[in-house]
Amino acid sequence: MASIQKRLPENVPGDFYVDTTCIDCDTCRQIAPETFRDVGEYSVVYQQPETDEHSKLALMSLVACPTGSIGALGKHDFRLGIDAFPSLIGENIYFCGFTSESSFGAWSYLIQRPESEGGNVLIDSPRFATQLVKRLTERGGVRKMFLTHRDDVADHARFANKFGCERIMHAADGARRLGVERVIEGIEDQYLDDELLVIATPGHTRGHAVLLYKNKFLFTGDHLAWSPTRETLTAFRSVNWYSWPEQIRSMEKLLAYNFDWVLPGHGRIHHDSSENMRAHLKRCIAWMKERD
Ligand code: SF4
Repeated sequence: MASIQKRLPENVPGDFYVDTTCIDCDTCRQIAPETFRDVGEYSVVYQQPETDEHSKLALMSLVACPTGSIGALGKHDFRLGIDAFPSLIGENIYFCGFTSESSFGAWSYLIQRPESEGGNVLIDSPRFATQLVKRLTERGGVRKMFLTHRDDVADHARFANKFGCERIMHAADGARRLGVERVIEGIEDQYLDDELLVIATPGHTRGHAVLLYKNKFLFTGDHLAWSPTRETLTAFRSVNWYSWPEQIRSMEKLLAYNFDWVLPGHGRIHHDSSENMRAHLKRCIAWMKERD
């Protein structure tokens, strides 16, 4: 719960505010850019919501915030923010909200599919919040849980316990130690079913992997994301924990695949034609090589 005593002075006066516990994860700025902005090491409210839609987005940010750093002084129907998750991104792909502090607010996603098509898939772990678990149950539960890498596993064990889902993760990121049911080895691609392809992408961590769904949606963990400032795809040099040259090789490997959505754990989502995505990926690789 946010504390008015810890309210950051950079917030504009009014109802919504951010307090000093903010870890600058960017979630609120992605959900409600009309309300929140970055001021260095924190997000703050730079403009109070003026419409019902903006209020709803601010409430969604409050719910999604990993550290409970967003407060609201007025009377609100918080269910508006809670019930909005999982929030539709496109087709049958949803953002789960309810991010976890242990994964630094990484975004997790839901692929909603009928049982006849393999059932629902969670990509990385949201916070194990009762309200989210209830909504996932209403949508058919979780059959598979793909963990891109060791940093974004959060409450994976609690989700596995609740839904009896099969977790999938690469051995090199500690999958066995975490008790994961299906451990990926090596760097060969592995199909989980007709629509889901695991692609090993070592670099950010030794056992990082991405998930390609229907040759269209690429769930990229901390490997690849959209940079709104550079307006192209990017990687995170300062948080490369394993090997930058290896991450470059993994990026080059992705040139062989078609996808027109990039859905990262950290960084921004992007949607474009697969041709444009490939062009952006080439730009990203060239940029990475300059920083090798
Ligand atoms: S979602 Fe929360 S922790 Fe993340 S930037 Fe916003 S206020 Fe800070």
